[in-house]
Amino acid sequence: QMEEWKQLRTEPTVSKDGIHVELAANIGTPNDVAGVLDNGGEAVGLYRTEFLYMGRDKLPSENVQYNAYKTVLEQMEGKPVVVRTLDIGGDKELPYLDLPKEMNPFLGFRAIRLCLDRQDIFRIQLRALLRASVHGNLRIMFPMIATLAEFRAAKAVLLEEKDKLAAEGIAVAHDIQIGIMVEIPSTAVLADVFAKEVDFFSIGTNDLIQYTMAADRMNEQVSYLYQPYNPAILRLVKMVIDAAHREGKWVGMCGEMAGDAVAIPILLGLGLDEFSMSASSILPARSQISKLSRADMERLAEQALQLGTAEEVTQLVQSLQ
Ligand code: PEP
Ligand code: MG
Repeated sequence: QMEEWKQLRTEPTVSKDGIHVELAANIGTPNDVAGVLDNGGEAVGLYRTEFLYMGRDKLPSENVQYNAYKTVLEQMEGKPVVVRTLDIGGDKELPYLDLPKEMNPFLGFRAIRLCLDRQDIFRIQLRALLRASVHGNLRIMFPMIATLAEFRAAKAVLLEEKDKLAAEGIAVAHDIQIGIMVEIPSTAVLADVFAKEVDFFSIGTNDLIQYTMAADRMNEQVSYLYQPYNPAILRLVKMVIDAAHREGKWVGMCGEMAGDAVAIPILLGLGLDEFSMSASSILPARSQISKLSRADMERLAEQALQLGTAEEVTQLVQSLQ
């Protein structure tokens, strides 16, 4: 098995019936890129930029950020890098921001909500990203989008910063894709409308599951309700993928579910284009996909969508072996 994985390191990810999907990695710092390449990652599907802001006593400067983004883009040598703008607040605190305590941090003032309010912080990150864009294949992704208005507002700020840089004579890539995370049910439900305006979606199942099932992802006592294979989740995923494809847009997934051996056959069958996972899951996933026919998995996914419980879905997938 180790031998097989080693061999797959430099191969693309192709199903038994010849369909290519992209296996990408989630990273938190530039130091993680070596592991992505070692494991044959075809892209970075999620760069969580929070770590740049954590573990220090003030906001990271534009140049500190620029250097981090540039390093990742250069090391990936033209492979796509999806950078998520700051997803802080709620449970992930920044002492120097002095955010108010909240009753429901996961439903509170975080991520894009905070960035649209604190545009001083947001604009510095966007400038750093735009400046770094000439060093590789950058894609920018906004987290926790709940409404189309938020996406439009965030994109408008990004385009303003781009214009300012142009006026200063600073080079910026002209082909930067702008996408959103789909991790709030309202956005999944409205995916057909979003799909006309975004360049891509990345489904954040870690949060999408907790918000859909109303089960805190950190709370052990309700963890039995945190069900990736619940058909309700699968139907939302299908809605998002179908909506994107109707508009010619691509869809990734960057929650834990994307690297899960039980979920992968269904996600392949639903037509997911990009799977972003921890680097160590890439080779096992590539091996698994190489043994699956997407046409067969389309039928499997159709069956799964008609089931009533997560247990039934698990049994269906396990019956494949
Ligand atoms: C997600 O919500 O699925 C996700 C990838 O983001 P995070 O785990 O950082 O909230
Ligand atoms: Mg999330």
